[in-house]
Amino acid sequence: MGKVLSFCSALDGQQVTESKVLMWLQVLDGRSYEDVQEAIVPAYTVSVNGIVTARGILDVLHAKAKPVSPAMFMEGEADLDESGWKSDPQPVCEEHGLRILACDDCCKLLHYQAGWMDADARHSWAMANVYRAKELWA
Ligand SMILES: [Zn+2]
Repeated sequence: MGKVLSFCSALDGQQVTESKVLMWLQVLDGRSYEDVQEAIVPAYTVSVNGIVTARGILDVLHAKAKPVSPAMFMEGEADLDESGWKSDPQPVCEEHGLRILACDDCCKLLHYQAGWMDADARHSWAMANVYRAKELWA
């Protein structure tokens, strides 16, 4: 936990104290070092005050644990009649001009940058950073 807190400290400048290490150990009890380590940067990114907290890391780990099922969306898509659509049924990425599910680069980017977020937060992030024609997806 001292290693984890040292890493956090490098990001947000917080002091690493013995009592803090002990408290984080209690809050993050049962979590693997790898899971906690992976959650640090996402927790830092969404932190309102720029400070990584044990609670913030726990929130990221909980969000990651929620099941997501992109397969459902892709199965349904195969049967869609798109002739009546007034806009593209799938967001198009700004950088490559591809439908988002056809663009491996942007899918990877979304997965790594926003994969742990809940659906609304991920959509907002994608709108701001990945999708073209943002006004259609507001
Ligand atoms: Zn793309």
